[in-house]
Amino acid sequence: MIQPARHISRASIWSPLPFALLLLVASVAHAQQDVRVGVLSLFHPAKLELEQAGSQVIVVAETEAANPSLFVLNGEPGQRQLLLRAQGNRVLAGLRSAPSWTATARDGGAVAFRLTVPGRFHRAYFARLTIEARDGELLAVASMDRELAVASIVASEMDENAPIEALKAQAIASRSFLAGGARHRDFDFCDSTHCQFLKSPPLSTSRVSRAVQATAGLVIEDRGRPLAAMYSSRCGGHTRSLRNIGMEPGEGYPYYAVPCAWCQQHPFTWRSRIGKSGQPPKPGDEHQRIVEARHWGWSAIPGSNFTAAADGSDWQLEGHSIGHSVGLCQFGAVGMAASGANFRDILSHYYPNTVLASQK
Ligand SMILES: [Zn+2]
Ligand SMILES: [Zn+2]
Repeated sequence: MIQPARHISRASIWSPLPFALLLLVASVAHAQQDVRVGVLSLFHPAKLELEQAGSQVIVVAETEAANPSLFVLNGEPGQRQLLLRAQGNRVLAGLRSAPSWTATARDGGAVAFRLTVPGRFHRAYFARLTIEARDGELLAVASMDRELAVASIVASEMDENAPIEALKAQAIASRSFLAGGARHRDFDFCDSTHCQFLKSPPLSTSRVSRAVQATAGLVIEDRGRPLAAMYSSRCGGHTRSLRNIGMEPGEGYPYYAVPCAWCQQHPFTWRSRIGKSGQPPKPGDEHQRIVEARHWGWSAIPGSNFTAAADGSDWQLEGHSIGHSVGLCQFGAVGMAASGANFRDILSHYYPNTVLASQK
């Protein structure tokens, strides 16, 4: 099943990876499984710079080589960062070429590191990192503890100041999405709207981390299987079933159209104009919305619930939702929590006929 893209989130802000994070990691060190997240691929990087995020030493080695070339990043002069460059399907680390490099702590486990797209962008992670190349583009995969991935996603997808029960509901939806299974070939999940936003991890003392810890291991299940739970930003007053957005659920969870009190009480409208090339935009057809949004930009058609009127050589669009409106409504969840609902109330409202199960 194709997962409709979610809304475009706030610009990413890098925050340094603090020692406090390591405490969170230590508390989940015995955790179940890692997830492999493809990171920064939206930038199609040909070069990436790797450096420490904290004082932990990073060991970079040729992946699975008998006598691997090694680099050690320890903050000493000449050992502060390592530039990795794609060269066809090989990766140059410094001046040494290999098909793949792996960065870990000395013991081979996860390490705190910062990855920079030179001149553009950087993020911090706590993970094992592998870097390969595909046709001149670097493929960076961060294998991280699932609970840490959930915390990183919740911190990216929802305002940290949201009510704690809304953060818990988001944590369970995001964990369920991961539990629903891999969605890519070279890694499990990407870090963008295609899967879920994933930026640098939050502080272990943050409200997001507390919400994740309080719900550790909990996932939404549909008929005994983890639900790859869809959610979106702002439903416009009523969520939608998959059929409502032109998708066939088959044997999968069909999703349900449910009223959303917060969106009904806080109506809003977006307007945009797009050129009349191609087919007229069809409200409720999520596949077409994604195609159009890729062409015109996400802000041109931010939600699937809109009307379209011809206006000269343009279509004038007017809409009342952001995202596909399927599953949990993030604004609605915040509204329910602010009115006293707990995470169980929120999840049973937006995902009817499901149960919560522990994967601890
Ligand atoms: Zn993806
Ligand atoms: Zn809503």
